[in-house]
Amino acid sequence: MTDLPALMADLERHLGDPFAQDGPMPFSRVLDMDEREEYPHEFVDLLASWGLYDWIIPVEAGGRAVHVEDGFNLYRLVARRDPTTATAMVITTLSYMSVWTAGTPEQRRHFADVIRSGRKLAWGLSERRHGSDVLANETAARRTEGGWLLDGEKWTIGNATVADVVMVFARTSDKGGPGGYTVFAVEKGTLAPGSCEHLPHDPLHGLRGLDMSGVRLRDCFVPDSAVVGRVGQGLEVALKSSQLARVAITSIAMSCTDTALRTTLDFATRRMIFGGPVSEVPYSRRRLVESYADLLVADALTTGAVRSLQLAPEQASIWSSVVKYFVPTLLQETLARLATVLGARHYLRTHPRYGIFQKAVRDFAIADFADGNTVVNLKNIALQLGNLVATAVEQDPVKVAAAVERTAALFDPAHPMEPYRPADQQLFSRGVDDPVLALRSAVDALHRAAAEARGRDAACLAAAAETAGEIAGQLDRIAEEHRKLFSDLGKEAGQSAELYDLAEQYTFVSAAAALVHLHLHGREAVDPALRSPAVLLVCLERMLRRFHPTRRVAGPQEVAEVAEALYRAHSEGRLFSFRSFPVNR
Ligand SMILES: Cc1cc2nc3c(=O)[nH]c(=O)nc-3n(C[C@H](O)[C@H](O)[C@H](O)COP(=O)(O)OP(=O)(O)OC[C@H]3O[C@@H](n4cnc5c(N)ncnc54)[C@H](O)[C@@H]3O)c2cc1C
Repeated sequence: MTDLPALMADLERHLGDPFAQDGPMPFSRVLDMDEREEYPHEFVDLLASWGLYDWIIPVEAGGRAVHVEDGFNLYRLVARRDPTTATAMVITTLSYMSVWTAGTPEQRRHFADVIRSGRKLAWGLSERRHGSDVLANETAARRTEGGWLLDGEKWTIGNATVADVVMVFARTSDKGGPGGYTVFAVEKGTLAPGSCEHLPHDPLHGLRGLDMSGVRLRDCFVPDSAVVGRVGQGLEVALKSSQLARVAITSIAMSCTDTALRTTLDFATRRMIFGGPVSEVPYSRRRLVESYADLLVADALTTGAVRSLQLAPEQASIWSSVVKYFVPTLLQETLARLATVLGARHYLRTHPRYGIFQKAVRDFAIADFADGNTVVNLKNIALQLGNLVATAVEQDPVKVAAAVERTAALFDPAHPMEPYRPADQQLFSRGVDDPVLALRSAVDALHRAAAEARGRDAACLAAAAETAGEIAGQLDRIAEEHRKLFSDLGKEAGQSAELYDLAEQYTFVSAAAALVHLHLHGREAVDPALRSPAVLLVCLERMLRRFHPTRRVAGPQEVAEVAEALYRAHSEGRLFSFRSFPVNR
């Protein structure tokens, strides 16, 4: 198993102090390149030279990727400095996923070599007239002697111009439909002149240095060996790749928020107002603690989501959509809250200390719309919601026992896992979502822990058990409202706004469940300061308030304890996460 904290520390050393202007990857240069809308070639090369790509290439193809959590966490260190660089590299990673999922061993090795030689990949799914409705895509491939002829246009494709290879999702059957699409690896260097043209760059609001363009293909010949997976397997390949992408992209949202919180703390601990630092003003301190708690909630949820890709690949469809919807939606609010603490300085573009805040806010949005926007993910949950809540409410003892066992492994980072195999992921979870199914049993465990604890810990654990129990109780209401919706509206309920609302509420229960499971099963891996029941209670309150916006269950002492943990993580230089990962300040 990888020594992840040591690996992360090594990468952080390689990247140097973000405030040292002559360092390898300082904020000043990141901001400068953003202002000039320059593709971050130098940072991509810097990270490639450290070997970052090895952590997304499987061992059999010459890489070092065994566990998804390694790559996921390494990218957090990149994105906290520059989400543009992280996105540019993630796009190459995700483009490779189709080959890892369904390609031949030769293809896996060949494209791994392409990446390791410094060349880039792009993922050509979207079209100008078709975004989320991928089965309406018109780019077509027709058979010809020895291969295929591709025609069509792929647009808003990251890396499309700088990449050497574009993975193109094309229609291979006139009828289209789920079995009517195929992925082709289009290697630009092998194409006939004029058959692949780059579309102009589209300037972006955030990620200003990213290559955002597209390709136009005209009678573009590719050999049979360019087919990735089986002919007709394209949708399955795209959806499975997307499951990893959706989880991975949340690391960018978390990193942007990490940088925003760190920047705000730099300000709040230095700036004196009314005779003391802003960080000591009770209201500001509470806002900082809430922001930290939000990040910890996202961290707990993604801990389970990332590990589920290996431990419960049959549930990948639900996990990937829950995190892709919930994490960016939650953290958007966190960024807005932090801006109110940082005040006017959050609006300065080039300030040496605070200028990075506005970039983090602008770049963050990629997590909302890339690889299925938030609404599409809500729809995925909505489609499965009836079965999910029915299973969770029924609490069949055999199913619960199995879910409890699997959940313990999911949230214990020390628990061994088989190497990642993306082909094992399933497109529907068949009503099973382990952490939610195991939540009531975890609430019982919290009650037992409260009975055995002493003093304030006992009180906090009892309050946490009550709060988690109340959130678990929301599942009964969601199930009842779901039943009534379908009985009132019939088939139309499937498209109703109310169904999306219920799906959203389900994600809040998932997040609360993740917090409880991590507290119960991941203790040994968690930073000692964050093992306290007070931290659990403050975080659970964030989720309770999604259902009851004015409710408070954590008192001033618990808030003070979390504030202390936050200030220490900041002053000692650690990522704002449950596990302790050092960062340069
Ligand atoms: C910076 C950037 C990078 C990108 N990189 C890539 C890339 O590398 N490769 C690639 O293929 N694409 C890429 N894209 C395209 C991106 O993934 C698309 O934006 C995506 O396909 C979703 O499209 P859409 O939401 O913009 O629009 P549409 O799918 O046209 O949807 C429009 C609106 O309709 C609503 N909607 C859509 N579906 C539903 C639904 N099921 N239920 C309810 N409402 C719905 C939503 O409000 C949505 O915003 C990139 C885009 C950007 C801006």
